[in-house]
Amino acid sequence: MSEAWQQRLADARANRQQTQRWRTRQVAKSNILDFAGNDYLGLSQDPRVCEAQAAGARRYGAGAGASHLVSGHLEIHDALEGALASWTGRERALLFSTGYMANIGVLQALADRHTAIFQDRLNHASLIDGAALSGARSRRFHHRDTDDLESLLSRSESTHKLVVSDGVFSMDGDIADIEALVTAAQRHNAWLMVDDAHGIGVLGDNGSGCVGSNWSSVDVPILVGTLGKALGTVGAFVAGDAELIDHLTQFSRSYVYTTAQPPAIAAATLKALAIVQEEPEHRTRLNANIAYFRREALGLGLPLSTSATSIQPLILGDEARTLRWAMRLQQQGLLVGAIRPPTVPNGEARLRITLSARHTCSNIDHLLESLKHCQREEAACLANA
Ligand code: PMP
Repeated sequence: MSEAWQQRLADARANRQQTQRWRTRQVAKSNILDFAGNDYLGLSQDPRVCEAQAAGARRYGAGAGASHLVSGHLEIHDALEGALASWTGRERALLFSTGYMANIGVLQALADRHTAIFQDRLNHASLIDGAALSGARSRRFHHRDTDDLESLLSRSESTHKLVVSDGVFSMDGDIADIEALVTAAQRHNAWLMVDDAHGIGVLGDNGSGCVGSNWSSVDVPILVGTLGKALGTVGAFVAGDAELIDHLTQFSRSYVYTTAQPPAIAAATLKALAIVQEEPEHRTRLNANIAYFRREALGLGLPLSTSATSIQPLILGDEARTLRWAMRLQQQGLLVGAIRPPTVPNGEARLRITLSARHTCSNIDHLLESLKHCQREEAACLANA
């Protein structure tokens, strides 16, 4: 490697390590209790979903073999798109290989330098990156603050305005105020895009998310959902009117220039979707787990947020403290996310605890007991300092 490159990498590494922000991967062990993932309904482990994937591979092969516009769009993809569209009450849906690709693909295909994009400050990185890729003028409004959004919208002279928000915020677990966003967008003649990655499958009467069948495509013209979270597989979709979907099919580069999702994944996702629609008991169990965790954690005086969803962050503030708690939990057989800047704002490092319908009460008790230990250890350290 040239010296200049070596220096660049070494500087970046030193900077991350000094600030306790260096991330490490670990091979997940099967005997660890996972409170870090997004498999909210446990469907990634459901034998029926696994079998549908195996059967899909036997029937269609291990891969799609080409992009959707060449020869990789198979009947199973088409069936899944149809099912996702009707579930979310939209005319059509379009499959993408990942949520990241869906978000950058939508923004790049819709926006250009004459477009003004307005994003919640806590939107997912893929939305921020998509806006940058599109070359649009991008503004961030304060988190869930529609007054701030309205004031930015009213100052914009762009003829094409696009308001973009997460549905459920991935690091905070709180839910966007869809009604206020719809009102603000309509008042200023803007389109609204909601990325409901963490709401799809778990929120709404039929699990269709915080937008889904509650809001039509007139109110929320662009709806993104991911398949790698509550649906337990991988991939994403954009749902909306035929005109929008046609446009994305033509112009979304992360759709056009990539191999189609493996058909076995589409088969597994169709099965997962049927389970979500036919078996509300998984959502009921998840909600009971959330309520139980929150009640007990509040009793322990843990720094809970107001989140009512599967994502239950404990905001600990600094990076070292967050790592210490995560490490302690890991020693006790528990996996939680230690989320640090730049993923979250400075001073807001946190444990990102996620709950699933698969957790039992005794799993949650184990977590609470271990969190209590972390608290006690910290108090003892402070007393001795
Ligand atoms: N949007 C949000 C809000 C997310 O949290 C994530 C993933 N963490 C994504 C999009 C990206 O989805 P995927 O993992 O399918 O790329």
